[in-house]
Amino acid sequence: MGFIECNTCGNTREEGLGLFKSYICKECLDKIAVTDMKDTVYYEYYKSVIKGMWIDYIAQMES
Ligand SMILES: [Zn+2]
Repeated sequence: MGFIECNTCGNTREEGLGLFKSYICKECLDKIAVTDMKDTVYYEYYKSVIKGMWIDYIAQMES
């Protein structure tokens, strides 16, 4: 398995979750899993990353 660049933290990791054509590393997934989703800055950031992934994905589908 090759290295992947996490789209959430920007670090290069050995393992991660592929989401469309983007990736989230295990460290970020763990962080999300323990984060109180209600009112954290991290969750707002995470949502913006996911939104960006969707925009990329939809743009790819339409092109
Ligand atoms: Zn990460």
